[in-house]
Amino acid sequence: MEKEILEKIEIQQGDITKLTVDAIVNAANKTLLGGGGVDGAIHRAAGPKLLEECKTIGGCPTGGAAITKGYHLPAQYVIHTVGPVYSGSPKDAELLAMCYQNSLKLAEKYGVKTIAFPAISCGVYGYPIEDACKIAVDTTCRLLSEMESIEKVIFILFSAKAGNVYLEYLKELGTK
Ligand code: ADP
Repeated sequence: MEKEILEKIEIQQGDITKLTVDAIVNAANKTLLGGGGVDGAIHRAAGPKLLEECKTIGGCPTGGAAITKGYHLPAQYVIHTVGPVYSGSPKDAELLAMCYQNSLKLAEKYGVKTIAFPAISCGVYGYPIEDACKIAVDTTCRLLSEMESIEKVIFILFSAKAGNVYLEYLKELGTK
């Protein structure tokens, strides 16, 4: 993997709602009307105006992405994407890759320079973190090599264990 691409990727452990970046990505559900996990945390931190704007979007298909303002969040935008519910079929990987791809394309369109992703589908939706990590990083690296405007992509993980999965995979890519 090219060094310049890998240098744009950063791994952090913590709460995505606290990040001062241009955009944070929300692991939403198809209604875009809020939920538990990271979705609930983002809505709580952004305040009720986020839900008001989400209501005007009218939902989002799995693998798709939609953008709103960040309201009370330190981030300017929230990009809402809908990950697949893990089923074990090959379609899961395709849909998860689409989440990263469509989120990054939307970010580029809005001039986002710094963006943070949670581990989409790895909570209630049950995607194994080792597999999801590879899809997240590989798709992001591919997109970053095609777009100039995005300067930093942060993968922020809630647990140290998940963070280590990402760090190990990046180390592996860096030595290839
Ligand atoms: P999904 O329904 O897509 O699986 P979840 O919100 O259940 O989404 O979980 C996605 C990932 O986000 C999980 O790995 C979970 O630990 C993590 N997570 C939950 N809250 C936060 C937060 N505030 N910041 C960062 N990651 C979070």
